[in-house]
Amino acid sequence: MSKILSFYRKPEKYQYLFNREQPFTVYGISNLDKIPQIHYLSKEQQFSIKVVANVLPFRVNQYVIDELIDWTNIPNDPIFQLTFPQPGMLEEQDYNKMADLIRNDADKFQIRKLAGEIRQRLNPHPGGQQTLNVPTFNKQQLEGIQHKYRETVLFFPGRGQTCHSYCTFCFRWAQFIGDKDLKFSSNEASHLYHYLRSHKDVSDLLVTGGDPMIMKARHLRDYLMPLLDKEFEHIQNIRIGTKSITFWPYRFITDEDADDLLDVLRELVQKGKHVAIMTHFNHWREMETPMAIEAIRRLRETGATLRSQSPLVKNINDDPDIWAKMWRNQVRMGIIPYYMFIERDTGAKNYFELPLYRTWEIYRDAIKQVSGLSRTVRGPSMSATPGKVEIQGTTEINGEKVFVCRMIQGRNPEWVQRPFFAEYDEKAMWLDDLKPAFGEKKFFFED
Ligand SMILES: *Cc1c(COP(=O)(O)O)cnc(C)c1O
Repeated sequence: MSKILSFYRKPEKYQYLFNREQPFTVYGISNLDKIPQIHYLSKEQQFSIKVVANVLPFRVNQYVIDELIDWTNIPNDPIFQLTFPQPGMLEEQDYNKMADLIRNDADKFQIRKLAGEIRQRLNPHPGGQQTLNVPTFNKQQLEGIQHKYRETVLFFPGRGQTCHSYCTFCFRWAQFIGDKDLKFSSNEASHLYHYLRSHKDVSDLLVTGGDPMIMKARHLRDYLMPLLDKEFEHIQNIRIGTKSITFWPYRFITDEDADDLLDVLRELVQKGKHVAIMTHFNHWREMETPMAIEAIRRLRETGATLRSQSPLVKNINDDPDIWAKMWRNQVRMGIIPYYMFIERDTGAKNYFELPLYRTWEIYRDAIKQVSGLSRTVRGPSMSATPGKVEIQGTTEINGEKVFVCRMIQGRNPEWVQRPFFAEYDEKAMWLDDLKPAFGEKKFFFED
């Protein structure tokens, strides 16, 4: 019997898990050697984690270490890859330079300087997030807000800009390395209300981060309850992006204000908003612990809908069977598969990226294994500067092999749903690598 079914049939068997004191111990570069399972890693592996974690963010907590990682399968375990920096995440040259500094006990200043140089080469701000998506008011940039697609405003509440653990492939990695200039945030909800008040064509607010579920319930309440006011009637859908079901499901079960948090969602639903929890699972294993199952059950009970979106990443989930099983589990548990993303062109992308033709093959080989209820998932899609571009397949037209693409979201609303064709290229990894098919000079969105 699957863990999910046995949990639903025998919840009392798992009660001990919920009653246990939950120490929220967080590990990073400074207390790596305190991880109880650290002896599973060789000295060399521990050293390489330190080298990479001086450049890319690293944070993992006790729950992930105890419940999700299979320590007998290191380094291949997908959740280990998801949370622990790996030597291949830096270019060899950069890795060696950083390793030398650490071996020679270089001072902090030197290490920070090199880290800064390497980070600049890792495209810290992909897709014009800071230059093109941040709206202005009275010539001032509205901090904490992004607005790219007409219907949906993104809000980055200041208190929700961190996570319980960090994903090694995170496309917002730059905001976790303590560089203030690189960080989006806003302590100022008034910007948000002002902006929404004057944009009546916005129907969706997407609260994101970091992880907004890291916030205290009362702060989430303060941000969201004003949206029940009549002047925000046009905001029909409140989406909250979160990875907490994976990294800290106790957030919805035993945390001090867990019930209060669920009440906020319940109240928004009862008063007429559609609340969508945008979950993030990379592997089915994340949703199979009794705690994750209970967290999902409690979230659904509020009347919120749960959807899932996730990138396809090499070394973690580049296998159609992983996706098929994940989607089947999700549908069974009441989570609607929504997006499969292509890993963005930032951070340790060389370690995670897959050729576009492969992303499509994996999507197709996964989707053909599941019923129509899972085929709500779109993808594989690139969140690129002009919009979200879906690879719909490959075909041959007049003897030319092409990618069939579709713009599913566009910076210009007129672009939405436009199909287009690109030259087939086995090496293409991102939209920038594609050339228009049939000898055309430009894609329609390049004018
Ligand atoms: C994906 C995305 C959205 C949401 O798009 P939907 O297709 O409505 O889910 C909004 N803003 C940005 C910047 C996005 O990348």
